[in-house]
Amino acid sequence: MCNEKTRILEPYGDVNVDLLKDFCQAKGITGHEAGASRVMKKWMEGYVDTIEYDNLGSILGTKKGSGNGPKFAMFGRLDEVGFYVKKIEDSGYIRVVNAGGLWPHVLLAQEVMITTREGKEIYGLISAPAPHGMPAEVMKTVKQLDELFIDIGVCDKKEAEDLGIRIGDMITLVSEFRELANPNYLMAKAWDDRIGAAIATEVVRNLKDVDHLADVVAVGSVQEEVGLRGAKTAAYMVDADVAIALDVTLASDVPDSKFGVPLASGVTLSVMDGSVIGNRELLYCMEDICKELGITFVHDIFMRGGTDSGEIHMTRNGVINMTLSIPARSIHSHRGVVHRKDIADTITLLTEFAKRLNWDMVEKFRCSNR
Ligand SMILES: [Zn+2]
Repeated sequence: MCNEKTRILEPYGDVNVDLLKDFCQAKGITGHEAGASRVMKKWMEGYVDTIEYDNLGSILGTKKGSGNGPKFAMFGRLDEVGFYVKKIEDSGYIRVVNAGGLWPHVLLAQEVMITTREGKEIYGLISAPAPHGMPAEVMKTVKQLDELFIDIGVCDKKEAEDLGIRIGDMITLVSEFRELANPNYLMAKAWDDRIGAAIATEVVRNLKDVDHLADVVAVGSVQEEVGLRGAKTAAYMVDADVAIALDVTLASDVPDSKFGVPLASGVTLSVMDGSVIGNRELLYCMEDICKELGITFVHDIFMRGGTDSGEIHMTRNGVINMTLSIPARSIHSHRGVVHRKDIADTITLLTEFAKRLNWDMVEKFRCSNR
């Protein structure tokens, strides 16, 4: 599965690891993304002309073009999978409800953090039964989410409540950001989908002091994991002529994988998924720019999932749209792995596209189905 690019031990490209780390370490589960949007605001300030929010919390940073150009929006998501507090047992253990789809298989004995209304951060452990004496048939089963509970190290419900914990508090996954032995492989929580928001942010940062016709908008959208909710309102507000959704896709370079794209492919162009068929001319345009810049690319067709594009392209009277993906291993768990090459190449492509976009190109995209 290895190729010469993945064997290179030198870090590939100009990837801002501090920015990536900031995005991934921010705490912001679906429906509670303020921690992540503050990070995006911090990294966009000084690089965009306006920063606005819609009423669900999506953030829109706009770098204005040189005048009367089309509007180009990049959507990256701010949410991450996690939980909300569902119940505090009399014993002080915490029951949870899913925010996004976490498979209980990856959860036992993992560390989590509860953030209270007052902002107090309380560590906990998803309690795991010892295997000693466990019947063989139980050993083979996966516990369901409503069977799991969090141990926060208290003696009863009162002690938990005295810490400020209440129903509906956010619970985030806890893990460190790490460069792995080959520093091109980066391990962290929340790549799904902070990597999208980070890439959109890096593109507007790259456009500082650069002449471009289009208004370029980096959108940090909310609540994708529960049904593309934030993209719907943010896409209406931004009213873009061309929009790209940035999201993760499954990594195919893991044993027994049947879907996805190998890490270090470069740019991943999503032809279609379960929620959208990308604009054909926009796809060809992306391919052409990749070839011109010497960027490697692959196509992705994954019909068992969707992205923000599913809502974006149906906004108002339709938006020219497609999705660019970053392959990620072990998503929807405490730690995923991505590759620097995929991040760097996607940023390079989108920066170039943003510089070039004009009305003739938009017209060509619009006419591709006429
Ligand atoms: Zn996801």
